[in-house]
Amino acid sequence: MTTPTTAPAVETIDGFRGRLIKGDHADYDIARAVWNGAIDRRPRLIARCIGVADVVAAVRFARDHDLEIAIRGGGHNVAGTAVCDDGIVIDLSAMRAVRVDHAGRRAWVQGGALWGDVDRETQAHGLATTGGIVSHTGVAGLTLGGGVGWLMRKHGLTVDNLLAADIVTADGERLRASEDEHPDLFWALRGGGGNFGVVTSFEFRLNTVGPTVLAGPILWDAADAGEVLRFYRDFIRDAPDDLGTVVRFGAAPPVSDIPEDLHWRPVVMIGTCYAGPCRDAEQVLRPLRAFRTPLLDIVGPTRYVEFQSALDSTVVHGWNYYWKSTHLPELRDDLIDVIAEHAFSCSSPRSYVAMFHLKGAVSRVTEGATAFGNRQASHAITLDAVWRPGEDFGDRDTAWSKGFFAALGRFRQGVYVNFLNHDEDPDRVREAYGSVYDRLVDVKTTYDPGNVFHHNQNIRRD
Ligand SMILES: Cc1cc2nc3c(=O)[nH]c(=O)nc-3n(C[C@H](O)[C@H](O)[C@H](O)COP(=O)(O)OP(=O)(O)OC[C@H]3O[C@@H](n4cnc5c(N)ncnc54)[C@H](O)[C@@H]3O)c2cc1C
Repeated sequence: MTTPTTAPAVETIDGFRGRLIKGDHADYDIARAVWNGAIDRRPRLIARCIGVADVVAAVRFARDHDLEIAIRGGGHNVAGTAVCDDGIVIDLSAMRAVRVDHAGRRAWVQGGALWGDVDRETQAHGLATTGGIVSHTGVAGLTLGGGVGWLMRKHGLTVDNLLAADIVTADGERLRASEDEHPDLFWALRGGGGNFGVVTSFEFRLNTVGPTVLAGPILWDAADAGEVLRFYRDFIRDAPDDLGTVVRFGAAPPVSDIPEDLHWRPVVMIGTCYAGPCRDAEQVLRPLRAFRTPLLDIVGPTRYVEFQSALDSTVVHGWNYYWKSTHLPELRDDLIDVIAEHAFSCSSPRSYVAMFHLKGAVSRVTEGATAFGNRQASHAITLDAVWRPGEDFGDRDTAWSKGFFAALGRFRQGVYVNFLNHDEDPDRVREAYGSVYDRLVDVKTTYDPGNVFHHNQNIRRD
């Protein structure tokens, strides 16, 4: 698959047909920017590839010139690992093609695609695979780390739907990894991140979803957070796998679906998405919707593809972000007390907390069957400080995120690697993988013994 471009190359790498963007290029500052505006790195060269041959050429060029490599898929990772200082960015953002085999229920997706690209093409056939909850997130980084989203409790993590991947390895070789081809590499790609090479294409299994689903948020006042969480804990214990929920704590964002008088009011918001028939969803959700009197309930029949972009405007490219994250067990009363105490004490109206309900199909896959660790955890929580350029909330809310994380210390149960930040203790990568870490080190040693791909949440022998 090749995405055509008319832009001329500005410097020659043997065999490279895409765009090479250096520091003196007019597009350099745009091309080096990533989603997190707090990341400000200056690579020597950005190699915007338009096909697999470009990726091979760029990897070989980097090796020959001893350049550090960063791989850019969607450029969305909070740690900013898609861009490095002084090295080369192998940029796949021009490789976003998606092809759907409707009858075979499969999709082939290039390594620079965003989830919005995938949902749009697959939903045209009433199909979907588990993706993230923000449509401008990259497919590659999200998939390689595991992939959590609204559909995971029914259809598994994104990696549980991955059938194969095409990859360019550290020595510039092209491999296909699947259950039958390089199965050790295929195992490692399902959670092990960008440690093994540049993935140029993914093949996913697709499932029937919607295209209309019952979905939407229910809002309660922040003062009720403790009681809402206690009710939520009991409600999700028996909820069917069709139901995906994410709890968001923070000021109600000024989006068009929320009435203006609620904008910026501190609320606990339970986002829901039911992956089965709408008539079943009405019945399943009734008790939650009837709990106390919500400030707002906008659950209703919604096109899944539109619901997938409902949060996009609340996490804008170029704002500054600092996250801490951990997995959590079931919501015991003392854990709920800690969450309720800290969730609303940030300063910026844009800072928020998001808590994904895991379990269901995620925890039915045997631990170690893929490289995604800690499958038995109940929730993944992220404590997200957000401030716009020029605003002075950064120091205070970074301290809030760290303080909240420390308060959760005794409940921690691993972490999702894709929610780790740039300044984490290296032990946290091991924490993310738990019992699968040592096997990941073995596969890393086989496919990238020189640790060429290290600008990431790095897997290495200590
Ligand atoms: C607002 C927001 C919402 C999010 N929501 C979710 C969510 O709902 N579910 C979820 O699971 N995660 C979510 N995430 C986390 C997300 O999974 C990671 O940020 C992920 O890294 C994004 O992928 P990307 O391709 O944009 O990453 P990039 O920033 O482009 O890359 C990050 C790293 O991924 C690796 N990588 C990227 N592309 C390739 C490639 N083609 N080949 C090999 N390695 C590659 C590299 O190691 C790179 O350093 C969210 C993140 C944000 C910022």
